Amino acid sequence: MKRKNMWKKIISFGLIALLSVFALTGCTSSETTTANKEGDAKQSEGQASESTLDKIKKRGKLVVGVKYDLNLFGLKNPQTGEVEGFDIDIAKGLAKKILGDENKIELKEVTSKTRIPMLNNGEIDAIIATMTITEERKKEVDFSDVYFMAGQSLLVKKDSKINSVKDVNKKGITVLTAKGSTSAQNIRAKAPEATVLEFENYAEAFTALKAGQGDALTTDNALLFGMAKQDPNFRVVDETFSEEPYGIAVRKGDKELLNVINEYLKEIKANGEYDKIYEKWIGEKPKQ
Ligand code: GLU
Repeated sequence: MKRKNMWKKIISFGLIALLSVFALTGCTSSETTTANKEGDAKQSEGQASESTLDKIKKRGKLVVGVKYDLNLFGLKNPQTGEVEGFDIDIAKGLAKKILGDENKIELKEVTSKTRIPMLNNGEIDAIIATMTITEERKKEVDFSDVYFMAGQSLLVKKDSKINSVKDVNKKGITVLTAKGSTSAQNIRAKAPEATVLEFENYAEAFTALKAGQGDALTTDNALLFGMAKQDPNFRVVDETFSEEPYGIAVRKGDKELLNVINEYLKEIKANGEYDKIYEKWIGEKPKQ
């Protein structure tokens, strides 16, 4: 009996001692390392899986890449500092859809050349900037459904003899456009005889046209109408020679955000908001 009791005491003392060591240190050092590693892994897993939509909601602001130099689509008003246009209204509506307030938005200037790199390096959440959906671009970004339909044309002096893309497919003719645009690719294909000069953006190309550095400026008709409105010495040729369906671009695999964008586009088309924006900037109802 005595022996049994002694053993009992020894065992329970040993157990208490062992438990207190665990309680004080938490666990052994090797266990600590493993636990931390697991924690780190979980954390980075969490960060990696945080979608762009989650990030937008967390920061309370949608960051959109837009044009600053295209009348009617995205133009910075030098008087007010405000950026205005069709794309801007679409972007603000999207901010309202996601965050409940159209002012919870930051607009960043992109050009045709910088928009994809800026999206893919995380500077912006989405591109809403007169961007045509193409197979080539689909390799780098994902596109929403079409939200505007344009076609490429030419802007020329009022008294110019140019009335078709055929008229610029000649040696000695210079056509101006912007780098990174489908306009530059299309004009080289349609008018291989012409000299094509590419500028950083459309503001520079238009300034060059006004300065007589080219016979025509080429891009989407909707954008050329905006320029002709700014300077009545120019007219838009009554012909389009490409199809330019505009899409909102997000980073590849940003499914959640893309779904919300497509849902938003469907909603505004159904509730008349899209028609309102279209009429406000284009001056007519969208063709069905
Ligand atoms: N829509 C054409 C494009 O995506 C021309 C306008 C632009 O350069 O943004 O390239």
